[in-house]
Amino acid sequence: MMAQIYDRVALIGLGLIASSMCHAMRRAGLAGEIVGYARSAETRDIAREIALCDQVYDSVSETVKDADLIVLCVPVGAMESVAQEISPFLKPGATVSDVGSVKRTVIDVVGPHIPDGVHFIPAHPLAGTEHSGPRSGFAELFDNRYTAIVPVEGSDPAAVARLIDLWAGMGALTETMDADHHDLVLAVTSHAPHLIAYTMVGVADDLRRVTDSEVIKYSATGFRDFTRIAASDPVMWRDVFLNNKDATLEILGRFTEELFALQRAIRQGDGDHLHDYFTRTRSIRRGIIEAGQDTDAPDFGRVKAPKE
Ligand code: NAP
Repeated sequence: MMAQIYDRVALIGLGLIASSMCHAMRRAGLAGEIVGYARSAETRDIAREIALCDQVYDSVSETVKDADLIVLCVPVGAMESVAQEISPFLKPGATVSDVGSVKRTVIDVVGPHIPDGVHFIPAHPLAGTEHSGPRSGFAELFDNRYTAIVPVEGSDPAAVARLIDLWAGMGALTETMDADHHDLVLAVTSHAPHLIAYTMVGVADDLRRVTDSEVIKYSATGFRDFTRIAASDPVMWRDVFLNNKDATLEILGRFTEELFALQRAIRQGDGDHLHDYFTRTRSIRRGIIEAGQDTDAPDFGRVKAPKE
């Protein structure tokens, strides 16, 4: 068991990421006490029923009071109002962090609500699933996955090092980077791919009216992986696109150009172009496997769900 890093950790929002943090912190004994708050009574009741945290409170003031680390685990679009709500109750010397998928706007809207004497160190675990809510978390979510630590100007190095220790203790690899770089990298690796998956599933849904059940019947091919991504939480992803607008539009612009080039190659029967392109992309997959970020087992190493 690792040493305790914070005496009292407060999680605001009790969904997939917060519940996974609870399990991962407990696994390694990283927090003396974990307390939580969610806006709906329903989520708070579920969290109590499954004993997710040591204590679930009905108010942010009680949750945040005396906490050494407060992590905002709500959709990006809700960060500002939550920051405003917790602001009066923060203990001097405490650290406020978040897990939002976009960093620049979170820094811009949360930063002004952080009082003097409180550290603000944004972060983003690059790990998730398409499931939501307090029951969806599991301790292994962050294992061997990167968490971006995005200190703001003037962040206290000791407070940053402590947060890095927490994420490492939860199993994550950590990387420190600045917000704009984070948002561009994530636009390429996560945000644009999600939009493309949403689009592909939307197109197939339109087609279904023509092909009837074939879309479902034959979805064991590539399409199924798109549907998994496109099942991700609508609120979270709406907020990602509204808040990482420039970087996502930049990447989608490049994507569209490439798509047109491939479209032309198909129309002109340019097999060399297609072959070269697919050879290049295949090597990227190999690179991901070599970096230990996926398995080369067929079907992405996915464990088959037991038949009901
Ligand atoms: P989630 O499972 O949907 O949980 C979201 C939590 O936020 C819930 O407790 C919800 O409360 C609360 N919430 C929603 N809207 C709110 C509002 N307007 N004001 C106050 N609270 C609100 O979400 P998640 O997947 O854990 O995502 C949380 C954060 O992590 C997001 O910023 C997301 O960008 C980021 N993230 C997600 C992933 C992923 O793959 N899911 C990966 C990395 C980072 P109720 O339950 O009471 O409604």
